[in-house]
Amino acid sequence: MDKRTKKRKNAESFSLESLEKRFTAKQAFRNELSANMAFLRGIEISRMEQVEEEEALVILSSKITFQGVIFLKTAIQHIPKTFVMKCSDYGGASLRSVLIYEMVSASQTSLSSLSKDEIDCYVNFLESSCPNFIASSPLPDEQLWNMSEGGKYCFTKFLAPPVSRCLSCDGNITMHNPPSKAKVFTLQGPIPATKITLECRPCKMSYGIARYINDRGSHYYSKELSLDLIEVSNTTYLSGQLYKWLPSLRQVGEFIFLHKMSPNHSLLSLLFCYSNHSWVSFSGFSESYNEVYQEEIERYRKTMKG
Ligand SMILES: [Zn+2]
Repeated sequence: MDKRTKKRKNAESFSLESLEKRFTAKQAFRNELSANMAFLRGIEISRMEQVEEEEALVILSSKITFQGVIFLKTAIQHIPKTFVMKCSDYGGASLRSVLIYEMVSASQTSLSSLSKDEIDCYVNFLESSCPNFIASSPLPDEQLWNMSEGGKYCFTKFLAPPVSRCLSCDGNITMHNPPSKAKVFTLQGPIPATKITLECRPCKMSYGIARYINDRGSHYYSKELSLDLIEVSNTTYLSGQLYKWLPSLRQVGEFIFLHKMSPNHSLLSLLFCYSNHSWVSFSGFSESYNEVYQEEIERYRKTMKG
């Protein structure tokens, strides 16, 4: 296309007429969408028969929002079906329906203002029409472990700095190094992880998982930003929940040697500290960890070896 034709075309696309045309098309689309949504919202669930699961989910989402559907699913999965005792203060309703209603009322979602009858109706509809959706879990744990075995990435956990913009200039921070592997000791045993670091090149700042570095040295993130992880070394982390179990440490510096250890020794065996309450030595704590998580440690080894 020669330059002049291109220029003319650009000029046309910015004419008042073409802008009006685009605006009208957008408005027509919005109107059509609103009309379709209003139709879906108007469908009476209690009268519906033989609806496909996907259709049921779309109808329900239009009524109580997608977030509402997800919350309802979580509540349904959370309370076993056998909680059936009749509650006299709710006119003989089943305990499960009362508990779901109370969870929903406190949820601060679009569901909070609904009556118990409405919630019962949506729960019944979801349970009867969407069994696959109720039974599904978003990412099966076992699948993530299998995908990590011998692969380029550990899918079991992803670690990233707790910031998405530069703390100094508020500009974009970017990834310059490929992801690396790390391990996170948790209350579920050791978990392989894929980890990244980020940089702001103009400010010469690099962002790690627990700390960031600028020309004045290394700094921990503020409390509001920091992740619930303790950095033991560049490749080893402790989950905050596991850390809570550790009594006060005599020398935090001793942590730095830990990354040289294999998981079966467990990082805990190096810590020469004592519990505040039960006087359990750390080597004892370590042995307990290794014993309790024998299977998980073996799975970790297998995954990392492959
Ligand atoms: Zn910056």
